[in-house]
Amino acid sequence: MTNNSDHLVRRGWTPHGGQDAILPPHATRWLASRTGLGARSTPVAPDSTLTVPESALPEPAYKALADVVGERHVLTGRAERLGRAGGLSYLDLLRHRGTGAIAVPDAVVVPADPAQVQQVVEVCAAAGIGLVPFGGGTSVVGGVTALRGDKAAVVVLDLMRLDRLVSVDPVSRLAVFQAGVVAPEAERLLAAHGLTLGHVPQSFERATIGGFAATRSSGQASAGYGRFEDMVEGVRVATPRGEWRAGVAPASAAGPDLRQLVVGSEGAFGVLTEVTVRVRELPTVRRYEGFVLDGWEAGATAVRELAQARVLADVTRLSDPHETEVAFAMSGGWKTALVRKYLRARGILEPCLLVLGWECTSTEELALRRRATMRVLRGLRPVSLGTAAGEKWRHGRFSGPRQRDALMDSGVCVETLETATYWSTLSSLRTEVRAALIGSLSAPGRTPVVACHISHAYETGASLYFTTIVPRDHDDPEGQWQRAKAAACAAISDGPLGTISHHHAVGTDHAPYLAKEIGDLGTDVLAGVKRTLDPDGVLNPGKLVR
Ligand SMILES: Cc1cc2nc3c(=O)[nH]c(=O)nc-3n(C[C@H](O)[C@H](O)[C@H](O)COP(=O)(O)OP(=O)(O)OC[C@H]3O[C@@H](n4cnc5c(N)ncnc54)[C@H](O)[C@@H]3O)c2cc1C
Repeated sequence: MTNNSDHLVRRGWTPHGGQDAILPPHATRWLASRTGLGARSTPVAPDSTLTVPESALPEPAYKALADVVGERHVLTGRAERLGRAGGLSYLDLLRHRGTGAIAVPDAVVVPADPAQVQQVVEVCAAAGIGLVPFGGGTSVVGGVTALRGDKAAVVVLDLMRLDRLVSVDPVSRLAVFQAGVVAPEAERLLAAHGLTLGHVPQSFERATIGGFAATRSSGQASAGYGRFEDMVEGVRVATPRGEWRAGVAPASAAGPDLRQLVVGSEGAFGVLTEVTVRVRELPTVRRYEGFVLDGWEAGATAVRELAQARVLADVTRLSDPHETEVAFAMSGGWKTALVRKYLRARGILEPCLLVLGWECTSTEELALRRRATMRVLRGLRPVSLGTAAGEKWRHGRFSGPRQRDALMDSGVCVETLETATYWSTLSSLRTEVRAALIGSLSAPGRTPVVACHISHAYETGASLYFTTIVPRDHDDPEGQWQRAKAAACAAISDGPLGTISHHHAVGTDHAPYLAKEIGDLGTDVLAGVKRTLDPDGVLNPGKLVR
């Protein structure tokens, strides 16, 4: 059987956790002085010490599934089940490092094509078996947690064998992918046609086309290429009621857009087996630059003015002073000291790093677009750090998850959360979420760092992405983060100032806050769709619709 061994790693981003990434000594020293982190290392518990219950999959259901996909594609072994037990949130990783109970599926089913997916869904519906669609398993909100709900057993449906580019229409700039294609492979397949999707989230290396669509994912170049839902032109979905296809034209007034009911449905309405996406010409010229503005308000104003003048670079990312401090501290060395001195000499007291990246198909296009951006930006007096700073960011854009592994090995509680709001409430939301996180995580000997950035900007508002770093509470590691996350979610939803998720989706973690955001009628609409498509409630129990 094809096997992607990355799927079998749930204790970190890399097979060996933090051993693949090393925290440089200057970073460790900074963490100790800034947060109070002690020298305690927290090695990963071996998989053999984790509790994995026996599979409860009833024999008739096993046989029916094996009849569809073949016995070797119904996996009931300990390692395979543990390898698909949960996603990659801090809490998921902690549990796989031995801190608490893990929800382990009763089996992993690995169909070969859309027709087999349809049959597997029907078998599960008939047998009353819960079914969790699993793409790259990179969910950070509990989206792939194998909850049973009221079912006798739950299986994970791993889409890794749906790995084909089905067709390309270069004239219309459309591509049809099977749902399990991982993002780097999608880009490799498209590049052969001179095309790109341009969807580059930080989870790029492991996440799939189906996962992007199911979560309304947003990539780092969203200002240029759009969010993933903007790219979806059509969907093919396996549901307990039969196969459903939506999307026949680039635009339509034939009622509400049903594609958008499937996009963001997190496996609760059906399993995406194919996704038709809009693609673009492969860029041949790139330019990434770094700038520094003085203080959060100046930085946020710059991004707003770029968005409202419609001259955002494809990548537009503003770090607040705390995230800029972390970036400088992690880089360390004499060059960083020089940059600090250089900025002070130019009157920058609270540096906020702004990275702008353009991806174009000609030098003329690049020059034209950059000139338009710079015309607006110059009025806000940024200090340029040149292309070196931009390229440094571009080359390190996927290092975050590896650094997280290393931080976890060093005894750090490190997690992120995100939201979005309108420009008029952006700064107050940032202040309130920061205060909630700091208030919850501060303790004697533990000072949290709460860093924030804008990575997705719109004419009317922007996303806020928070990263929290604090020494772990070794007596109650899960509770420490659960309380902090609850405080932050309350700050977001009590206002209500913003959305409970800009791109990580709902999963289990945000489910308690969804009704407040969409209202009772909105909740009923979702429940009605669920009842129509999945009357027995077998699809992804406990997610989106409860
Ligand atoms: C380190 C890290 C960085 C991240 N950075 C970003 C980022 O920059 N931007 C961003 O948007 N997200 C980010 N994420 C979150 C995550 O990567 C996205 O939600 C991604 O879209 C999930 O894709 P996946 O294939 O891994 O889906 P999975 O994690 O496997 O599944 C996610 C959800 O979608 C459902 N699902 C998956 N495939 C299908 C399918 N074919 N049909 C129906 N339902 C399906 C699952 O049941 C689950 O509910 C990050 C995660 C990590 C761990």
